[in-house]
Amino acid sequence: MDWGRRLCAWASEGSNVRRSAMVSVAIGLIIILGCAGGLAYACIIPSSHVFHPVVNRGPAESRNVVLTFDDGPAPPFTEQVLDILAEHGIRATFFLCGKNVERYPELARRIVREGHTIGNHTYSHPFLFGKSRRFMAREIDRAQEAIERVTGVRPTLFRPPYGARWFGLVPTLSERGLRMVMWSVMGFDWKYKARAIIWAIKSRLHSGAVVLLHDGHEQPPPAGVDQSATVQALPAIIETATRSGLTFAPIEKFLA
Ligand SMILES: [Zn+2]
Repeated sequence: MDWGRRLCAWASEGSNVRRSAMVSVAIGLIIILGCAGGLAYACIIPSSHVFHPVVNRGPAESRNVVLTFDDGPAPPFTEQVLDILAEHGIRATFFLCGKNVERYPELARRIVREGHTIGNHTYSHPFLFGKSRRFMAREIDRAQEAIERVTGVRPTLFRPPYGARWFGLVPTLSERGLRMVMWSVMGFDWKYKARAIIWAIKSRLHSGAVVLLHDGHEQPPPAGVDQSATVQALPAIIETATRSGLTFAPIEKFLA
């Protein structure tokens, strides 16, 4: 006899006490699953405002789109992305890892020099789930210091690695005057080839979109992810948006 049938037999043979015990267990399970779902929503979903007010899109009537690039800087991808953006006169936002800024300071300076916005993406790109407030503060502060030391700019925007938020992140960001920026359209460019990246963005693109792409990785090449597919996809993404009547704008347009 399997466990399900045994349980049914136990409940049907039993008294009201057994039945009410089973109902209690079922309610307990529903509550636990509900809490787990709520926590997952709060921690992972980019549009969730549970932990902190986030900017993840702009006004729908704006006809503007914002491009964001995470995890860099990293050669040669950041340079190639910057070349394409310059060619099209687009200003994007780069969420930099402090460690990569120290590895490639000239690239970080070029991003700023060419008029793009830079944000804090922590120092070493850790997963923030379950981390202490002290740990998160140290990661954010180290990145702020590295970025300011190298570029002369102290970021006012923050994006958590993997989009993961945790308890304690809210006050840590508030104390430092940092605003959280997430996204509304994802290119999945850490795993897709160029054609799939283009399709992923094209199928979800909307007026007011904040698009997430990557120009680097927390590990430098060759250990890090190869972002050449992002570079290959970028011209087609720009063309698709432009043909749809959308204009690329700096993130500041969405921060009012
Ligand atoms: Zn990242």
